[in-house]
Amino acid sequence: MNEMHYCDAHTHLTPNAEECVRRIYHVMRPTEAIPETLFSIGIHPKDALMYSLEDFRGYFNSSNLRAIGECGLDRTASNVPLNKQNEVFREHVRMSEENGKPLILHCVRCAQEMIHLKKELKPLQPWIFHGFRGNRRKAFELVEAGFILSFGTGLLKDSGNPEAFFAEIPPEQILLETDAEPAETLPMIYATAAQLHELNPICFADVIEQNFNRIFGNE
Ligand SMILES: [Zn+2]
Repeated sequence: MNEMHYCDAHTHLTPNAEECVRRIYHVMRPTEAIPETLFSIGIHPKDALMYSLEDFRGYFNSSNLRAIGECGLDRTASNVPLNKQNEVFREHVRMSEENGKPLILHCVRCAQEMIHLKKELKPLQPWIFHGFRGNRRKAFELVEAGFILSFGTGLLKDSGNPEAFFAEIPPEQILLETDAEPAETLPMIYATAAQLHELNPICFADVIEQNFNRIFGNE
């Protein structure tokens, strides 16, 4: 295959119809219509007092539901105590394991807690650390603990100096995403990632697509 196939592991923006990007659209509110594209459901830690997973029951049976999250721990979400965030996060882990769906993590200043939780709960499903921004040490602690790292515009904006270590991250543990940024940023993220990994852009995109298919399913 000689063309780029883009995969977006996490986005908040609804796609325009003719786009050929494969994406996981994140449903944040249980009032949204069931998406026609692949999607995830979950409660952002800052919303942990506002919703419960039961509120999302209407989405459970859709074959487009491919991941649980984003969910996790956020030390800057001061409106929700960390122990409550932890409780709600554990419900997501249970749901992910019971339904055989990967988990998309939102984690701000809680990476050590997240690593401990993974060691404690020993999930069978992949845990995807979304929007990774951080330094080499944090990246490799997560890689060694088996996390998938999903990179977005952090790769472009020089946060934590990713160009110094990105090439050393095992390719099978990488996903790419736009999060809340416009879809047009995805080709730039892909181009930067391929360049840092010193790979032909099409070969690199193939690796990301294989990861995407392995983690979220093939179609
Ligand atoms: Zn997000």
